[in-house]
Amino acid sequence: MSLFKEIQLPSGKSYKQPLGLFIDNEFIKASGNESIDSYNPATGEVIASVMAADAGADVDKAVAAARKAFPGWRDTPATEKRDLLLKLAALVEENVEILAEVESLDTGKPVAQNAKYDILELVEVLKYYAGWVDKSTGQSFVPNAKKLTYTLHQPLGVVGCIIPFNYPLAMMSWKWTAIATGNTAVFKSAEQTPLSILYFANLVKEAGFPPGVFNAISGTGALVGNALASHLGVDKIAFTGSTAVGQVVQKTAAVNLKPLTLECGGKSPIVIFDDAEFDQAVKWTAWGIFNNMGQICSGTSRCLVQDSIYDKFLTALQQHVRETYVVGSPDDSRVLVGPQVSKKQQERVQSYIKSAVDEGCRVVLGGEGLPDVIASSSTHKNGYYVKPTILGDVTPQHRVFNEEVFGPVITVTKFSTYAEALKLANQTEYGLGSSVFTQNIVRAHKFAAEIEAGMCWINSSNDVDINSPFGGVKMSGYGRELGEYGLANFTNVKSVQLNLGNKL
Ligand code: NAD
Repeated sequence: MSLFKEIQLPSGKSYKQPLGLFIDNEFIKASGNESIDSYNPATGEVIASVMAADAGADVDKAVAAARKAFPGWRDTPATEKRDLLLKLAALVEENVEILAEVESLDTGKPVAQNAKYDILELVEVLKYYAGWVDKSTGQSFVPNAKKLTYTLHQPLGVVGCIIPFNYPLAMMSWKWTAIATGNTAVFKSAEQTPLSILYFANLVKEAGFPPGVFNAISGTGALVGNALASHLGVDKIAFTGSTAVGQVVQKTAAVNLKPLTLECGGKSPIVIFDDAEFDQAVKWTAWGIFNNMGQICSGTSRCLVQDSIYDKFLTALQQHVRETYVVGSPDDSRVLVGPQVSKKQQERVQSYIKSAVDEGCRVVLGGEGLPDVIASSSTHKNGYYVKPTILGDVTPQHRVFNEEVFGPVITVTKFSTYAEALKLANQTEYGLGSSVFTQNIVRAHKFAAEIEAGMCWINSSNDVDINSPFGGVKMSGYGRELGEYGLANFTNVKSVQLNLGNKL
């Protein structure tokens, strides 16, 4: 099997796709013969087969490379680290068009409306953490005249970074905090989306990062992800993915008490009170779930609407989504809704829609089956498309109210009082995002304080800002990425106590 493949993109451009493992700044062959097929979700055709790392020899090799690079990288002057991150950000920016196309081809994200924003987010996150590299400090205390104490924030060593399929490069970028804080890292891409991180690896080398600082391998979660989580040479796991796998990773990582950040699933509420700015509430509600084809961990998939505006809101939401969320080919610049990432994901979402219908939920828009424009297309009829779906009159008794669908499906539920809205909003095992629409400032802040979630958007939804921490509570995980808080998850705090003359 060759290490590279020439791939033709829908725009007509072609590029050289790496297929190997990126270890020590080189693409190398995996030691076994296993490979992973990457599918184009818009057509169902195989794009390329990448080499799957062997869970033993190859994971050991990647971890050893990161281990060897660690002391040198840790001790690299902060300003040099900063400049490398900025150089990498500039290279990504220069390559934004091609990276967006590769990301789109592999995930099904519309190039113009989705994938490009992910790449620009990657640029911003690299720049943001470049800014922190030479500013992160500890604290000092003078408890009495004879003592000085201070803290050192020291990198942990080798970090294993496990990436989900929904934002391959953007989720990877959040974990670059590991490298910015002086750790070295082994990244494992999701099985469904291995291509873009390998293309990005070229840029890491071109930027001048020393070999072994950033390593990227492909492989299944059950083998390669598990091997990273259980590896005694890995000092931390930064995991983003489902709650079920997060639980497995937590157990596996106990082998050497690795610290973890777990960014897991969600079932986030969006609560619309009758004093909300109506049009904005409609638009943000749609954006909060139909962006990225609903494959958003913090997607506000449970909409709770006050009874006095319930019917009017449902009608307006249905009309807005029908007119604005255009379904079609990811390379069409008018399209906002591409396919789901995989056949499995398509079937999973369809089965949730079916169960909701079987349980008596009202289909206000969408429903089972393929969107008409796809069913009649010779190119896309085998793509993994799902209709943007609005389900009305949903209650906590319905399965779809409680379980994460992770697709373009929103449930709408009626409430009458603040107390009822809060109870419904908190009626979930998850606690990732939340959103509230009201012009009443006291009610808005009361809700932000009382909702059981890691994040609360007031009068918007999922307008994630990289300066602010991202993460969840309850079954959505723990630890934070982004913002200054993100730094804390990648260093150990050492307390140093200097005796200035206290004699025994
Ligand atoms: P997933 O849990 O199936 O896979 C995530 C990653 O874990 C993949 O790289 C996979 O290969 C790996 N993995 C699987 N089994 C493993 C094991 N036993 N040991 C170690 N690694 C293993 O999730 P997914 O389907 O790729 O992504 C969707 C899920 O991710 C959703 O539940 C979504 O809510 C969640 N997510 C959360 C956030 C967040 O920030 N909280 C962000 C994005 C996605």
